[in-house]
Amino acid sequence: MLKIPSFEIDHLRLKPGLYVSRKDEVSYETVTTFDIRMKRPYREDVMDTGAMHALEHICAAYMRNDELWGSKILYFGPMGCRTGFYLLVVGDIGTEEILPLIERTFDFASDYEGEIPGATPIECGYCVDMDLEGAKAHAALYYNLLIDAKKENFNYPKKRQKKEKP
Ligand SMILES: [Zn+2]
Repeated sequence: MLKIPSFEIDHLRLKPGLYVSRKDEVSYETVTTFDIRMKRPYREDVMDTGAMHALEHICAAYMRNDELWGSKILYFGPMGCRTGFYLLVVGDIGTEEILPLIERTFDFASDYEGEIPGATPIECGYCVDMDLEGAKAHAALYYNLLIDAKKENFNYPKKRQKKEKP
């Protein structure tokens, strides 16, 4: 099997942040995949499924309703390792460009009140696993991280140079 590019990132040196994971050409359009990395791998606890699930519903609903970006959002969903989310957007887009949307989204989620969008048995496959308070806490932490983010939170760690054989 070929190695998937996202497995080539050194996760031991990866900081939480916002990264361009990949860009794919799909029938005359570029699709940009963003790595919304909320937790530092192996240094911080991963998120619980209930908190991630609630965040997924709230953030996806918010982004799809955004006037500027809504029609370009292809997919927003959790990473299996529970350290963050992937966001797929139509267009050749950089982190500076998408950052305001991500900030708005997590700011919105951080003090969300009321019914979680789509959290009914008809609309969702396991709507009993929802933790709104957890979702809000993780959203607030990530929002604050973005506000104070530095270059290193937007650029993947450089690849380790393989030692050359003598
Ligand atoms: Zn669901």
